[in-house]
Amino acid sequence: MTNSKNYSPEFHFPVENMGNRKKIKDRIRRIEEQKNLKKQQLNAIERILEFLYIEEYVKPIYRKTIKNNEEYLSMIERRVAYWLETRCSGSEKKNYGINAVLAVKRAKYKCEICKQKDIRCLEIDHIPEKVDNEGKKIRSGFEVKEFKCLCANHHKIKTVNKPSIPPYPLSSAYQ
Ligand SMILES: [Zn+2]
Repeated sequence: MTNSKNYSPEFHFPVENMGNRKKIKDRIRRIEEQKNLKKQQLNAIERILEFLYIEEYVKPIYRKTIKNNEEYLSMIERRVAYWLETRCSGSEKKNYGINAVLAVKRAKYKCEICKQKDIRCLEIDHIPEKVDNEGKKIRSGFEVKEFKCLCANHHKIKTVNKPSIPPYPLSSAYQ
């Protein structure tokens, strides 16, 4: 048994299944064979799996949908689904949105700098920037949000390195 206090492969998202719609369909079929679920619920489970595994799936998922179907998800899938749900439809929707979820999927659930895969360490860095029509950064103009999937350490380092923020005190300046 692995020690869950350390980085552990048991907390890696199964990225080898990403993009595999057939695998999702097979899984739904197995659930259908074993449980007497309504079509509506099977569809909901399929949506959660597409939300997690299919990069092209660009719709948000809702807390209630995950809650009602927790038993059909693995521990990792549950954790990741709840984490991303808060960003795209829950309390953090305003600051993140579905593009944040797409960035995490694009990064294949790992830190874009050090490739750390333990999902307990992953965070979404959001950089609100003002750009002009040509995408050049300016002080006023359209606000676009760029997202990166980073581990907690690299997220912290990036935040601390922002030129607009004084380098100390570290503990309270970046909450
Ligand atoms: Zn990292």
